[in-house]
Amino acid sequence: MALQLIHEPRFAQRTTLRLGGPALVEAVARVEADLDELGALLPTLAGPTGRVLAIGAGSNLLAADGQHELVLVRADNAAAPQVECKTRDVLVRAGAGLGLPRLLGLCQRLGLSGLEGLTGVPGSVGGAVAMNAGSYGVETADALTRVRLWTPGGGLVWRAASACSFGYRHFDANFGANEGDATGLYLVWEAEFRLTQDAPDAVRGRMLAVYAKKKASQPVTAKSAGCVFKNPAGSSAGRLLDEAGMRGKRLGGMAFSDLHANFLVNLGGGTAAQALELMDFGRHAVRARFGVDLQTEVVVLK
Ligand SMILES: Cc1cc2nc3c(=O)[nH]c(=O)nc-3n(C[C@H](O)[C@H](O)[C@H](O)COP(=O)(O)OP(=O)(O)OC[C@H]3O[C@@H](n4cnc5c(N)ncnc54)[C@H](O)[C@@H]3O)c2cc1C
Repeated sequence: MALQLIHEPRFAQRTTLRLGGPALVEAVARVEADLDELGALLPTLAGPTGRVLAIGAGSNLLAADGQHELVLVRADNAAAPQVECKTRDVLVRAGAGLGLPRLLGLCQRLGLSGLEGLTGVPGSVGGAVAMNAGSYGVETADALTRVRLWTPGGGLVWRAASACSFGYRHFDANFGANEGDATGLYLVWEAEFRLTQDAPDAVRGRMLAVYAKKKASQPVTAKSAGCVFKNPAGSSAGRLLDEAGMRGKRLGGMAFSDLHANFLVNLGGGTAAQALELMDFGRHAVRARFGVDLQTEVVVLK
């Protein structure tokens, strides 16, 4: 198998918001050997700007409408995870390209507990690690034992989760001066989770409860990128936006959801320009009313 190169990949076709113009090229790696090829080609592909972005399932990206002088790299290693039973715990090793919902489906079938709180979070395993995706008090980092990272300068390395830093929607591999890559680029290639055994029905019950809670309060099937802003400490960005009058606020084809004010949704025909303007509007409204500066959670590419 060879590294696949897709020219002029459009963000509108790669993101759940369905917004954004083309990048220069997307390099899709399916097997480890593809990464060697990627390392050799990257300087040429990236050109003088040298801008490279790892992309997963695009469920947390808001890309501007115009051309992006950017090379996308994507791990498409989505084979069934490897499962290794220990005494009570189970180690599950999954490719970064695997869909997080598929990993959770496997956990449900095999009766593996630890990730139920992530039910309803779309995206890839790689994206979940890179964003430290979380909900209802559970974060990806909680069950992560180690992560396999690829960098153009350092190749593939396993890194213990304990050597990395995690925060609210934040991951840092903490590469030292002689590790990783000067560009700062890393691609999550695999992740290993430590889960505990439980009855499949019990795991399924918890997942259904999480999903039901989400479905009642979030536009889970709309074209969105999840929460736009981070929750300020001790507060809820959705509540602040709601009380600042943003719920249902519309501009062209984009709107703050009328179900959850922290979700921007593409109602059809929306543009990234409209999304960014609405975000500014919401940020100003919350600052004016509460004196709180909302920080962006969605990854904005301009
Ligand atoms: C309906 C909906 C609900 C959501 N609910 C939640 C929620 O409850 N909690 C939550 O945390 N998020 C939520 N999200 C946001 C999103 O699903 C998560 O952030 C998810 O983990 C992103 O994964 P992805 O593969 O789509 O990453 P992308 O959107 O493709 O990328 C996001 C970031 O991760 C980086 N990245 C992606 N893959 C890799 C990789 N292999 N290696 C290195 N970096 C990589 C990208 O460079 C980018 O910075 C929601 C989104 C939607 C649409």
